[in-house]
Amino acid sequence: MTAELVDYAEAVTAWEPVIGLETHVELGTRTKMFCGCPTAFGAEPNTQTCPVCLGLPGALPVLNGQAVRSTVLIGLALHCDIAAWCRFARKNYFYPDMPKNFQISQYDEPICTDGYLDVDVEGEIVRVEIERVHMEEDTGKSLHVGGATGRIHGATHSLVDYNRAGIPLVEIVTRPVEAGPNAPAVAKAYVEQLAELLRTLDVSDVRLEQGSLRCDVNTSLRRPGDAYGTRTETKNVNSYRSVERAVRFEVSRQAGLLEQGTRIRQETRHFHEDTGTTSPGRSKEEATDYRYFPEPDLVPIAFPVDVVEELRASLPETPAVRRARLRDAYGWSDLELEEMTNAGVLDLVVSTVELGAAAPAARALWQNEVAKAANEQGVEASSLPVSPTDVARLLALVADGTLTAALSRQALAGVLAGEGDVDAVVAARGLAVVSDDGALRTAVYDVIAAQPDTAAKVRGGNMGAVGPLIGAVMKATGGKADAAKVRSLLVEVLT
Ligand SMILES: [Zn+2]
Repeated sequence: MTAELVDYAEAVTAWEPVIGLETHVELGTRTKMFCGCPTAFGAEPNTQTCPVCLGLPGALPVLNGQAVRSTVLIGLALHCDIAAWCRFARKNYFYPDMPKNFQISQYDEPICTDGYLDVDVEGEIVRVEIERVHMEEDTGKSLHVGGATGRIHGATHSLVDYNRAGIPLVEIVTRPVEAGPNAPAVAKAYVEQLAELLRTLDVSDVRLEQGSLRCDVNTSLRRPGDAYGTRTETKNVNSYRSVERAVRFEVSRQAGLLEQGTRIRQETRHFHEDTGTTSPGRSKEEATDYRYFPEPDLVPIAFPVDVVEELRASLPETPAVRRARLRDAYGWSDLELEEMTNAGVLDLVVSTVELGAAAPAARALWQNEVAKAANEQGVEASSLPVSPTDVARLLALVADGTLTAALSRQALAGVLAGEGDVDAVVAARGLAVVSDDGALRTAVYDVIAAQPDTAAKVRGGNMGAVGPLIGAVMKATGGKADAAKVRSLLVEVLT
């Protein structure tokens, strides 16, 4: 069954990759899909459960209205049709982390269908068609103990945490994308830009690393013009970069098999972050019979048309439209916008500029200083105790000469350390530039008196010698003097 991998560039000269993406998004609702249990991430195992999400006999589900609204909002943002009437279905299978032995999902009546997302792939727009967006509930989590890699293989026992069981999930399924040689980049850009859109809609925190966004990547190859080949499904790829690598690897692997005449097995595969390879999981040779039937404990959903229209009218500006607007208004390049987005500071920079700060300075401070601090602490920049108001004030103080760049960094450090707002930190730490001419002049005379030889060199016309004197004055004022002003004072006194 194994074959040599074919070099990617070579593989795509003979074979055409076709990809499909299935993305699961955990909605950021306060409570679960069918019960009132909280959804907060990271709680002690099995502390966020109740008879409904534990599937105890007789417990009945009650639908979370906010989850339905969020799903419709996602469907509208993806240009989907919203079903006037639809139902939930039971998907029957046994798995220990699924306490009811069925998952409430949607089958042949999804709430949103036939949409698209226009994806910007290195400046070119690729339309990815959306087949369906449907609602379901998440499963619990199994933890296998004793094995080497957390896998069930080699484990001595398993633990199950049902906190995640019943968290609202939305599954977004694309149609096959005939992406050609660019397939890995298209897959990555799609997931990134879908995540960005979901974040803009404020329906999920969209964290791949915490599993609130999970991506399955289908890949198949065909000879140009042929029908679609057999596809493999690489499960739970958990970074944007990995989405790209998974497609790239599958193309190389499948090309190797096809070229030696071996047919592709329809199966799920696991992606390995460390090696960038995939390995086989469950075979899907025979389609699993989930014995779907309409969920009898829930009434059908007839989402009111006027609420659909209300939600449509409330859709925020899409990230793509917003990027174009900001590019025109503030002169940021696509790369700068992407960097700010990736650093999670774009909204913060925009708010800072709206408060009167210069666009380049606001971008530099958030991206170079605040985002760096956030990164070091492993948190989002937006969760640090510094606001656009603080940054705008800081930049205003630099602009009017009250703070030097170095002093502004100290002031920011104070704000980040929770010492108060900018003015409070500047006052408490005594950071303002020494602008009192008398005090500065005294410091200049003191330094000249202390370094007569250097001063004599400057008097003799050696302007290179003025540097050490400036340094000494800066040191004497604790770095709080304006270096340019110190220089002009020294020159004035000595020449
Ligand atoms: Zn519950």
